[in-house]
Amino acid sequence: MMDTSVVGFPRIGALRELKFAEERYWKGQKQEADLLEAAKELRRKHWLLQKNSGIDWIPANDFSLYDNMLDTAVMLNAVPERYRALRLDGLDEYFAMARGYQGEKGDVHALSMKKWFNTNYHYMVPELEDSAAITLNGTKVLSEFEEAKALGLRTKPVVVGPFTFLKLAKFTGKKTPADFAEPVAAAYAALLRELDRAGAQWVQLDEPSLVTDLTADEIALFEQLYRDILNAKGHVKVLCQTYFGDIRDCYEAVAGLDFDGIGLDFVEGDETLSLVTQKGFPDGKTLFAGVVNGKNIWRNHYEKTVQTVKILMKYTERIIIGTSCSLLHVPFTLENETKLDAGRKKHFAFAVEKLGELAELKSLLDSANPAEGPAYLANAALFRSPRLAADRAAGKQVNRLTEDDFTRKPDFARREKIQKAEFKLPLLPTTTIGSFPQTAEVRNNRAEYKRGEISEQAYVAANKKMIADCIRLQEDIGLDVLVHGEFERNDMVEYFGEQLDGFLFMEKAWVQSYGTRCVKPPVIWGDVARRQPMTVSYAVYAQSLTEKPVKGMLTGPVTILNWSFPREDVPLKESAYQIALAIREEVLDLEANGIRMIQIDEAALREKLPLRKADWHPKYLDWAIPAFRLVHSGVKPETQIHTHMCYSEFNDIIRDIDAMDADVITFEASRSDLTIIDALNRCGFRTEVGPGVYDIHSPRIPTEEEIEKALRTMLKKLPGEKLWVNPDCGLKTRGNAETEPSLRNMVRAAETIRKEL
Ligand code: GLN
Ligand code: ZN
Repeated sequence: MMDTSVVGFPRIGALRELKFAEERYWKGQKQEADLLEAAKELRRKHWLLQKNSGIDWIPANDFSLYDNMLDTAVMLNAVPERYRALRLDGLDEYFAMARGYQGEKGDVHALSMKKWFNTNYHYMVPELEDSAAITLNGTKVLSEFEEAKALGLRTKPVVVGPFTFLKLAKFTGKKTPADFAEPVAAAYAALLRELDRAGAQWVQLDEPSLVTDLTADEIALFEQLYRDILNAKGHVKVLCQTYFGDIRDCYEAVAGLDFDGIGLDFVEGDETLSLVTQKGFPDGKTLFAGVVNGKNIWRNHYEKTVQTVKILMKYTERIIIGTSCSLLHVPFTLENETKLDAGRKKHFAFAVEKLGELAELKSLLDSANPAEGPAYLANAALFRSPRLAADRAAGKQVNRLTEDDFTRKPDFARREKIQKAEFKLPLLPTTTIGSFPQTAEVRNNRAEYKRGEISEQAYVAANKKMIADCIRLQEDIGLDVLVHGEFERNDMVEYFGEQLDGFLFMEKAWVQSYGTRCVKPPVIWGDVARRQPMTVSYAVYAQSLTEKPVKGMLTGPVTILNWSFPREDVPLKESAYQIALAIREEVLDLEANGIRMIQIDEAALREKLPLRKADWHPKYLDWAIPAFRLVHSGVKPETQIHTHMCYSEFNDIIRDIDAMDADVITFEASRSDLTIIDALNRCGFRTEVGPGVYDIHSPRIPTEEEIEKALRTMLKKLPGEKLWVNPDCGLKTRGNAETEPSLRNMVRAAETIRKEL
């Protein structure tokens, strides 16, 4: 009999119940006990769903009130001093680490947050101080296991593993991961002993860091940690669970340790299958085969999965099939998608439906002849029937592209000269990133229109009025390059997705992004194409109000793709090029209508950079950068192309960013230490740059002096002719109250420095 296992299950709830319960607690509208009760009820529901779907190894402790990494830090007693000093009780100390605390007991920032590998989930970065006294602390793991046991359920506790914990933690003093290896291992060993006493049969330690590039020292640390831990396991079987790729750097090391199970990702791990077939699978261990995609929303192709498992059976008899990673990264259930027609719905599987897939696969694999099972046949029919109409015009267009389509002419240096003459901007031109504050008025206007309470005419008129006010304000402030303000947009991907062919939007398909924040990524269902102009009329209207250039404002193809659920029937590259061609039409349309500067945002370009360096170019940059070039290569030399990115950690891909061949790039820099400027300088970056001069993520108003200081620092390394002056991101999350004085200070600072030059 084949068993099934789930790596982790979404915890936010089918209708985001946890989010609402928590937010009420934070607002003081709910007692701690009520929040804990709501959390307990969700755990019960989610366990029972899995039980009733026939899952054999149900995860426990995959639940979290905020984040599993934070839970692990607490479990190891790694609570930084500044939070302890607040002397808050119970949950409040935990939430202070998660969200910061400002109140009668003090004022501290939250731990920082980072993207969890190549997903859109963010974990809290644990901080290890030299004084940290690592020891097993708290009872969360044990009590959630006991809670399930009381419901008559056998679960498999899940904890972030020690290696991944140490690899992702921040060391604030002199100590290094190796200095903490002993106490950390001792704490995990103590945990295993506790779980053994409680009667746990399997414990899952998540080690996704094993799928990244590892040095010999790191592998040695991994081995050291686990030699100590596995000595203490008693009767508990320990599963080393990896995901988001293959473990080519440490397969032998993992196989050589005393693990009882090894969890491998057969979906995203390009080399996982060949690792097993070429190196074999260690005797006596159980292979947890991740075959159902935990990251995308399409149905599993049973034929392929059965084939894979049949191959694996030649290498080991002990196989448990499961999800490729936690189901945290997909929406909860299709059941709440009431507007999605059955013809489309049948192609999808969200978390709950994936449980059903595992159960079906299990029974197919248990049968003598899987290929004759009705579930298998129905699935095969689904994959055989064309999902899309046969005419793939967009696909054909992509195939016809030539090198010329990706090459903007003339070269950068000549364009720069032409554009300097064309725009006659002052040195250090001032601009913003695009959006202005999304005030209640802005949001109400869109909401009323969406609900059908106001006519299209009234809606457009209200937007135009806000655009006119925004242009007037920017002229008054004295900005050199203006924007229309993005009042018609709620989200920079959704706005385009809704107007393009090929996208599907769900109703309740929320995915946790961080804490209680969820996003609802659109699905790329088919070939992407532009139906009609998407931004032209507002752009033209805004430009008609001023002599100064107004930037047309678009979202780039890579960002649209990265913030959507991608297709699995065509390569990412093809989808990226299709989107690029659609946005290209919009670019050319804007240009034909008199828009002379166009900004194409690639906010999310960095985040899907593959985990292994060897994959960066072949698997990603080699099409992502050309996709951007394809969007703008058709414009006239005097049309100025801007782009924007929401981070400055692109030190290691600077040349690729330059190769996007934009004329100007703005990016976040105000919160980082400006090391990016050194890097730009070092590699002779051609593109003009606007490193953000102040942080828009905080309501603080920057002073003129501090902006001047930032500009002076930048000018030590960058030529004045290349430098732009702007905030570090769009202003949509800010209020009017701080936006206007901040921008005035920015413009005045630029004027002061300009005079000095
Ligand atoms: N143009 C967008 C804005 O200003 C860019 C947003 C972003 O970078 N995330 O809001
Ligand atoms: Zn940004």
